[in-house]
Amino acid sequence: MTAGDPAAVAARLRESGCVFAEDEARLLIAEAADPELLADLVERRCTGAPLEHVLGWAEFRGLRLAVAPGVFVPRLRTEFLVECLLAELPAAGCVLDLCCGCGAIGAAVRAARPDVLVHAVDVDARAVACAEQNLGPGRVHHGDLFTPLPGELRGAVDVVVANAPYVPSAALPTMPAEARLHEPRAALDGGADGTGVQRRIVAAAPNWLRPGGRLLLETSAEQSTLLVAELEQAGLDCAVVRDADLEATVVIGRRRGSAAQP
Ligand code: GLN
Repeated sequence: MTAGDPAAVAARLRESGCVFAEDEARLLIAEAADPELLADLVERRCTGAPLEHVLGWAEFRGLRLAVAPGVFVPRLRTEFLVECLLAELPAAGCVLDLCCGCGAIGAAVRAARPDVLVHAVDVDARAVACAEQNLGPGRVHHGDLFTPLPGELRGAVDVVVANAPYVPSAALPTMPAEARLHEPRAALDGGADGTGVQRRIVAAAPNWLRPGGRLLLETSAEQSTLLVAELEQAGLDCAVVRDADLEATVVIGRRRGSAAQP
C-alpha cells in the first residue's frame, strides 16, 4: 500500500469488507500523522475494530466526541433521545445522564443548551475517562446508576435520561461483530427481557426527579410496552414517541406534581 494514497487505502479497506471504504480512507488518512501510524490504523480497521475506536472519536449531533477502545460507540438513533430531551428541558435545568458511556447525550445537550447543568454516570472506568474528556471534569461520576451521585441532587433533577443497555441477553449473538467483540457486554446486555437495568432506573428515578420532572429512556419498539408498564407501576405518567427513519423509540415518564405545588 502506498502510504497516504486514498485509492490504495480504500482498496485495502474494501477488500476487508468495509462498505464506505472511500469515506473511511479519507478519515483515517486525516487522522494519521505519519505512514506508520496510518498503516497501523488501517490494519486495526481491517481486522474489525469499529471505525470510531480506530479514529478515537465519534460524530454525534455534529460534535466530535472522544471514544476509546472498549467504550460504547454513540449511535445515530440516540440523537432522537436528545431531541426529545431538549423539548422537555426547562431553562437552566439539571440533567442526569445514566449509563453515559462517552457522555454523548450530555455533551450534545450542553452544546445545544449551555445554560443546563449535566451530571453523568457510568459503571465503567474507561467510559468515565472518555466522558470527562467530552464533558469536562467534576460532573462525571463513576459507579452503579444513582449510587455515586451527590445527595443534593435528590428531588432536584429536571430530567433523568438513559440509553441503558437494552438488548435481551439471548439476542446479543445477533448483534454486529463490531458491537459484540469491541463494546463492553455491560453496555449492551439488558438481561432476560432487555429491561433489567432500565427497571432499576425506573424504580429509583422518582427519588431523584423534582415533581413534574421527566424520565427519558431509549428502548426498542418491542420492549416499549414492558417499559411503560414499569413506569406506570412507579407512578409516572407515560408517553411513547418514535422516529421511524432513525428506528428510535423513547419512553417518557413524568413525575406527578409540579415544582410550585409539590
Ligand atoms: N439497539 C442498540 C444498538 O444500537 C442497543 C444499544 C443499547 O443497548 N443501549 O446497538
